[in-house]
Amino acid sequence: MVTVIDTLANRPRPRHPEKAHRPDQEVLRKPDWIRVRAPTSRGYLETRDIVRTNKLVTVCEEAGCPNIGECWDKKHASFLIMGEICTRACAFCNVTTGRPNALDADEPENVAAAVRQMGLNHVVVTSVDRDDLADGGARHFAEVIRAIRTESPETTIEVLTPDFLRKDGALEIVVAAKPDVFNHNLETVPSNYLTVRPGARYFHSIRLLQRVKELDPTMFTKSGIMVGLGEERNEVQQLMDDLRTADVDFLTIGQYLQPTRKHHPVKKFVTPEEFKSYETVAYTKGFLLVSASPLTRSSHHAGEDFARLQAARAAHLAKTADQ
Ligand code: SF4
Repeated sequence: MVTVIDTLANRPRPRHPEKAHRPDQEVLRKPDWIRVRAPTSRGYLETRDIVRTNKLVTVCEEAGCPNIGECWDKKHASFLIMGEICTRACAFCNVTTGRPNALDADEPENVAAAVRQMGLNHVVVTSVDRDDLADGGARHFAEVIRAIRTESPETTIEVLTPDFLRKDGALEIVVAAKPDVFNHNLETVPSNYLTVRPGARYFHSIRLLQRVKELDPTMFTKSGIMVGLGEERNEVQQLMDDLRTADVDFLTIGQYLQPTRKHHPVKKFVTPEEFKSYETVAYTKGFLLVSASPLTRSSHHAGEDFARLQAARAAHLAKTADQ
């Protein structure tokens, strides 16, 4: 008889089992313009309490976002719905990969309660990839949007969605729930997709954003990329053109930061001056709004940016009416 002792049973599951076999990557020292202070403020602690009490998951914590001290102090958090386990394994991402748990039917109400308690004017809702679900999680997104609308009708809602693995009808379900901003991040230039975002297809993501505008031309669309992943400047400019072809309104560009030695290495720390130059080029290409800086994240300052987006659209419409 053989006795098998499961020595792993009581140990926490490794966060990135799919990355364990990868060679360690060199971690570059961060330049001064990237450093942020550890979060300790009262506002930060209050936000953390609300998140814990409502059993919510935030991308702020899961992604190890450097802006968490600033955002949580201002009671701004981005909610990560449908669990904390993702069905994909992007090389840049710190979220756990694996088989996700069943959806939490109470989550829409819990997110809505947290939005009300935090008094949010604008909320960002994002999710892990749920390729295991028939609709990629689109219905759950819609339920969260509706629950927030019911609890906090004045709050504007921004969704940052996965690509729904090209599942028929999924995108339409989310658009029909009428978020104010539809964000889907390209993450990087197409030449990096195989190594950085292997489960996704660049032109599918572009098409998804284009389709949102076709379904509802009044909905703001937004997309973001990280730089420092080995991209060339002309590739970023081409990506801007691709997004404008899809009529995307808002572009965010931020510095990629490497979560662990097993993740994709930072190839370069892009200087603040280079970010400024990207911003200038992007505006010339016709985006209504551009945020490009080392610490830009797609949900950073999302509330203020939504007001700026509305103002930029109003100014643009007034200008074209005069012509
Ligand atoms: S930038 Fe976004 S993800 Fe980062 S802390 Fe702020 S709200 Fe959270």
